[in-house]
Amino acid sequence: MDPFLCPQCGATLKYTSSFAVSTVCEYCRSLVVRHDKNIELWGKEADLQDDLNPLQIGTRGTYQKTGFTIAGGVRLNHHEGFWHEWFLQLDQPVQNSNYAWLVQAQGEYQFLLEPLVIPPPLSREVGAVVDVPNEIIKKIGVWSAGLLRDQDAFKIVDIRTAGMSGFVGQLPWAPDRNRQRMVAELASTGDLKLTVEFGIVSSQLYYGQVLYFEDFKFENLKEIKGW
Ligand SMILES: [Zn+2]
Repeated sequence: MDPFLCPQCGATLKYTSSFAVSTVCEYCRSLVVRHDKNIELWGKEADLQDDLNPLQIGTRGTYQKTGFTIAGGVRLNHHEGFWHEWFLQLDQPVQNSNYAWLVQAQGEYQFLLEPLVIPPPLSREVGAVVDVPNEIIKKIGVWSAGLLRDQDAFKIVDIRTAGMSGFVGQLPWAPDRNRQRMVAELASTGDLKLTVEFGIVSSQLYYGQVLYFEDFKFENLKEIKGW
């Protein structure tokens, strides 16, 4: 396929992930969205502005012996602070997941697999039980082997609304700066992490594992002064 060129400055756009829908031009910071055969200019994007973050586009890491590369990222803001979500291009699928996310919040690192679609939860309050269909529990159970000890009711333990305040690189969807994302964390056993992002017709269930920075054996990190 011919490379896509930035409609704003003419530079070659990076679309290394076949799951990427949008990308931010490295040169002029225009947000560009890919359709079937053409591309659309969505305007200029602010940078992530996180000079103290060692993770960057091109950082390599490992999860359960599968290598990955950071292809893009989003910065999310809520009233208590912010966090980052990095879009990962996997060297090979992990448990039928073609891509993954690395959520970085206050020194905590969560590796999350491609989300599964679940019906919209009936209640959006802390303490409410989220009905996770059996086949999805099975899927998560097979992958998590041991992390998911029982099939207790999944209860909402934390809920927050966040807006996106910056993008970099490629993303598997077209980011909408004006959209508020409502995200709930579900109670789970051990290191298993279950997160639900609420939607109108359906919701996305993200599942994965909490790990330490060292576990990912990162390479090509950004050099931080004073580290
Ligand atoms: Zn450009």
